[in-house]
Amino acid sequence: MDNPRPDAPDNPCFDAFDRAHLWHPYTSTVAPLPTYKVARAEGCELVLADGTRLVEGMSSWWCAIHGYSHPALVKAAQEQAARMSHVMFGGLTHQPAIDLGRRLLRIAPEGMDKIFYADSGSVAVEVALKMAIQYDPAKTDFLTVRSGYHGDTWNAMSVCDPVTGMHSLFGPALPRRRFAPAPAPIHDLAEPWDPADFAPMARLIEAHRDTLAAVILEPIVQGAGGMRFYHPAYLRALRAACDAAGVLLILDEIATGFGRTGTLFACEHAGVRPDILCLGKAITGGMMTFAAVLATAAVAERVCSGPAGCFMHGPTFMGNPLACAIACASIDLLLAKPWREKVAAIQARLRAELAPARDLPAVADVRALGAIGVIELKRPIDMARAQAFFVRRGVWLRPFGRNLYAMPPYVIAPAQLTRLTDAMLAWCRDEAGR
Ligand code: PMP
Repeated sequence: MDNPRPDAPDNPCFDAFDRAHLWHPYTSTVAPLPTYKVARAEGCELVLADGTRLVEGMSSWWCAIHGYSHPALVKAAQEQAARMSHVMFGGLTHQPAIDLGRRLLRIAPEGMDKIFYADSGSVAVEVALKMAIQYDPAKTDFLTVRSGYHGDTWNAMSVCDPVTGMHSLFGPALPRRRFAPAPAPIHDLAEPWDPADFAPMARLIEAHRDTLAAVILEPIVQGAGGMRFYHPAYLRALRAACDAAGVLLILDEIATGFGRTGTLFACEHAGVRPDILCLGKAITGGMMTFAAVLATAAVAERVCSGPAGCFMHGPTFMGNPLACAIACASIDLLLAKPWREKVAAIQARLRAELAPARDLPAVADVRALGAIGVIELKRPIDMARAQAFFVRRGVWLRPFGRNLYAMPPYVIAPAQLTRLTDAMLAWCRDEAGR
């Protein structure tokens, strides 16, 4: 394809109604960036309306871990939709919710005991924060680290990085949170660790222990806040400090859960378990929106012994049977496969194939962990140009800020992965020549 403009009216990838009326994420409706119409998606490819095939490097924002249209997931969806797509969860229950709960407790960090099903990642974060408040209503402060990302709803936004997040836009309207410096960035989890990395966080916990409801952060990988990796020892120190101060630890594994970093959950790298755990994205293998918040029995017991006598949250689509059935099928599919070897192989290939980028003048850093490969550039990436550049090369990559990254489905073939890394390197060389 010779770089067609997707906003040219005669291009089948262009849709005038979409351009005129549909809001896309973080995109102007007045002067929108081009969007490409996708006709279908199969395996690790998106098929555009004009027949162009793109190798998928994003897993649709990190959730399509099995690729697209996987027969086992399609079958689970069709069968459950025919039986019962949705029933309310208040006063009712159903087998898919029970089956999913059993699976989650089997694979989640030890000690997780109570499960709250939510509709999306951001809602899961809201739920986790609310749980922490109901755990001890006298403590209403939250502490997190810079460079984090937890979603776009009000409270989730408030614990995102205050600089790269949306605080400058919503600042005065947002609840004020406490921020420790981001943990020191690393390239390899086996690197030595300097305990000084944790000192500012230790001081903040100690100083505010009487008002802190919880510390919330993403374990090991900070995703949308900068694609940064940090040391498992930091997380171990944090667990110990939270325990010592009687502060809850909320781990947001919405991006890292279900194998992405090489372990089923990223907190396993550190051998710590949270008090409250947020899961989402890959929970349904990217088939549909769904999330879960897991809590220890101790957290649930205190939440439910407060004045309300229960946890005060109950969305309409809580425990949606269709999502639960698909999530069961996705977890079964993951566990039935040598996912650990697949993710390790992706990590090795990403490290080897992205390494040459280190020598390019436009590049600030190169790193890979699990099925996450990142080239950090020195300058912000021009999204419109990058999108067209990558589509022309037959890949789907959508960078943000200075980060050009790949988070492919685990089933990606070596040759497909190489197409992604080749395109990433080509962009960096192109940038260097500009
Ligand atoms: N937490 C993390 C770590 C995330 O990466 C995301 C989404 N990128 C969210 C929360 C929010 O999830 P959602 O977009 O499903 O609301």
